[in-house]
Amino acid sequence: KLNLVWLRNDLRLLDNAVLCSALKHAEKSGAAVLVLYIATPETWALHDMAAIKQDLLRRRVVQLQQELTELALPMLAIEGGSYQQVTEIFSTLCQQFELNVFVQAEYELREQQRDSAVEHLVQQHNGQFIRFDTQCIMSPGDIKTQQGDIYKVFTPFKRTWLAKLREEGVHCYGRPKKISQPKLELPDFLPLKDGDGSSADWEVAESGVLELMRRFCREKVADYHQQRDFPAQDGTSRLSAYLAIGVISAAQCVARLQLEAGEAWSEDKSGAGVWLSELIWREFYKHILVAYPQLIKHQPFQHETAGIRWHNNKQLFDAWCNGNTGYPIVDAAMRQLNQTGWMHNRLRMIAASFLVKDLHIDWRWGERYFMSKLIDGDFAANNGGWQWAASTGTDAAPYFRIFNPVTQSERFDPKGDFIRLYVPELSKFTGKTIHWPHAQPLSAYPKPIVDHAVARKQTLELFAEVKKTH
Ligand code: FAD
Repeated sequence: KLNLVWLRNDLRLLDNAVLCSALKHAEKSGAAVLVLYIATPETWALHDMAAIKQDLLRRRVVQLQQELTELALPMLAIEGGSYQQVTEIFSTLCQQFELNVFVQAEYELREQQRDSAVEHLVQQHNGQFIRFDTQCIMSPGDIKTQQGDIYKVFTPFKRTWLAKLREEGVHCYGRPKKISQPKLELPDFLPLKDGDGSSADWEVAESGVLELMRRFCREKVADYHQQRDFPAQDGTSRLSAYLAIGVISAAQCVARLQLEAGEAWSEDKSGAGVWLSELIWREFYKHILVAYPQLIKHQPFQHETAGIRWHNNKQLFDAWCNGNTGYPIVDAAMRQLNQTGWMHNRLRMIAASFLVKDLHIDWRWGERYFMSKLIDGDFAANNGGWQWAASTGTDAAPYFRIFNPVTQSERFDPKGDFIRLYVPELSKFTGKTIHWPHAQPLSAYPKPIVDHAVARKQTLELFAEVKKTH
């Protein structure tokens, strides 16, 4: 008998309900325990997963294998190709063992199909496939209105979420105990390959990542509300990549926040309270994804916006991707993404708005491009962010609210320090001119590819067309 802990985006030892439950079950049943990870680069490619995220996953798995040896827990890390091959791997395992499989539930389409196929197989061999809703602190479906409906608007969702948290408290699972079991004889599988090293600047040890989170809560969170919108400042936690693959959990973040911030942990206007809100946004988008499966198929939340006649000009799209739009803040943002695999939240909003409302390109092109570059790529947050910016989503920016990229730049990068970091062509510009350097012709830097005032009017027309027919 084997309890198999199949890790996917919950690559941690602490606060891991899946691992703890498998161990507890094994203690009673006498089953052996094995931790499993299967890399699936062919399916990752279908999901446009960024190379840097793939590298982070691979590095984290290797590290986790080492961390697990301290608990005497064996971990099998294998190269699986596609989700179809995953089923074949399980088929081989089922020949050799009577399996109980423990997993964290995943909500995207192919993931659900993969899990159903494996569940079916395991059940055919008299085993159990046990899912844990541990991606969020509150399970999708648990936060409902008094009428029992799903919240479509963030603020009341947050209010109910917080009330439930206050009632129940935050619980984190501790460190699993060391086990002793005979060495397992395992079938031969293709071992995990090394990544390309592109994520080398990112910490992968669990203790190191926890320390980053703790330090942020201790030293920075109090100023978060004042600093978080300024990309030139190091004012946000930069924990998104770790939350996305589960090196740390949201519950650990909230527990630490309560410890460090005291009473202020959930106050609306405190740094801690504003940071907490961001963690709740993360949950909101996951809950919405589960409640509205059409989102998984990249359909807009607001149905009528499916009829918008985007212009989808490939040349303009390429200029945006490469950070050559002639709008300095947009170009700096896109170059940060291309060079580092991460982009500041304010810039994600500005760059997304520019693609949709200045270039009139389908938000799904941008959603895909972000996914192909982001180290923290997460379907629910990315889709939610894009649909927010495109005014097609739930609780999205109203369609007539159109960011002016130059005003945004003046407001959130007042001295141009961030622009200078990523657009060296403008390094000599000072004062206001860096936000709009086109008063005199420039040879080194592109001319603006669109006129914002004209584009703005066209956006209003595009939306008016679909809104009036509904
Ligand atoms: P902090 O400001 O420190 O926030 C703490 C954590 O809260 C983040 O690590 C993240 O897990 C969560 N969070 C913060 N803001 C949001 C939000 N708006 N929606 C959901 N969760 C949030 N976030 C991703 O994790 N993956 C994505 O693929 C992603 N794509 C985005 C695309 C667009 C167009 C937009 C506008 C936002 C996107 N976000 C995404 C949300 C947000 O920009 C990032 O989570 C944030 O910038 C990460 O930096 P941080 O860890 O320093 O965040």
